[in-house]
Amino acid sequence: MDLGLKGRVAIVTGGTSGIGLACVGVLLEEGADVAFCGRDAGRLAKVAEPFTARFGEGRILALTCDVTKSGEVTAFAQAVAAWRPQVDMLINNAGQGRVSTFESTTDEQWRAELDLKFFSQVLPIRAFRPLLDKSNAAAILAVNSLLALQPEPHMVCTSAARAGVQNLLKSLSVEFAPKIRVNSVVLGLIESGQWERRYEARPDKSQTRDAWLAELAKSKHIPLGRLGKPEEVARSIVFLASPVAAYVTGATLEISGGVSRFI
Ligand code: NDP
Repeated sequence: MDLGLKGRVAIVTGGTSGIGLACVGVLLEEGADVAFCGRDAGRLAKVAEPFTARFGEGRILALTCDVTKSGEVTAFAQAVAAWRPQVDMLINNAGQGRVSTFESTTDEQWRAELDLKFFSQVLPIRAFRPLLDKSNAAAILAVNSLLALQPEPHMVCTSAARAGVQNLLKSLSVEFAPKIRVNSVVLGLIESGQWERRYEARPDKSQTRDAWLAELAKSKHIPLGRLGKPEEVARSIVFLASPVAAYVTGATLEISGGVSRFI
C-alpha cells in the first residue's frame, strides 16, 4: 500500500530513541521529510547522522527541544516554519512513565507528571497548529499508554495523567475537524529506552537481556508472549497519521500484544 507520504512533512517529538526513533526511520523510508527533537544534543546529532547519510541532509531537521518548555517548543515550530511551508503530521511521542504508588508520590511529582503528560501534547499542538492548518491532509497522532484505559496502582500518576490525555484528544478531534485529524495509540510493553534502563538496573546482573525480557513478558501475561518492537508500533503510527487513514479521527488503536482485559 502506498501511504501517500512522498514530499509530506512530519514532526516527531522524542525522536532520538525507541518508538520515536523508529517513527523517524519509517517516515523517511516512506518518503516524508522529518523534523524531530529530543533534549540531549549529543544523542540528537548521533541519531541524525546515519539518517542524513542515507536520505540526504535536505529531508531531515534535528533540533533540541524540551516539549514541556513553551519557549523551546515555539522556537522548534519557528525553525520548522523556516524549513517547510506546512506540516502534515505531528507525532507527539516524547515522554516516559513514572513508577510510583499513591503513597509514594509527592505533590511535586504529581505536578511534574501532569506537566509532562499534558504539556507534551498541549504545547506542540498549539505551536504547530498554524502549520498543520496549511496542509490538505493534516493529522496529529499522540503516543499514549494502555494505562490510560487500564490503570496500574504501581503507576498511579502516569495512569491518571494518561487517562486525562485521552479525554483531551477526543475533544480536539471534534474541535479540529474537519481540518485536522486527531488519533492516538495506547501501548502495552514495547522494547525501548525505558525498558533498556530497567534491564540495566536489574538485580541479577547475570541474567541475559533475552531471558530478562522473556521473564517480563511472562510475568505480565502478554498473550503474544513477548514485548513489542518499536518498528511494529511505528508502522501503525505512520499509517494512522498518513493520508491513507483519511476517515479515521478520534480513534484509539491498542498496540499491546493483546495484554488488555477489557472489551
Ligand atoms: P525512550 O526512552 O526510548 O524514548 C523517549 C524519547 O523521548 C527520547 O528521544 C527522549 O530524548 C525524548 N524525551 C523525553 N522527554 C522529553 C522531553 N521533555 N522533551 C523532548 N523529548 C523528550 O522511550 P519510548 O520510546 O518507550 O517512549 C516513547 C513514548 O511511548 C513515551 O511517551 C512513553 O511514555 C510511551 N510509552 C512507552 C511504552 C513502552 O513500553 N516503551 C509503554 C507506554 C507508553 P531525551 O531524553 O534526549 O529528551
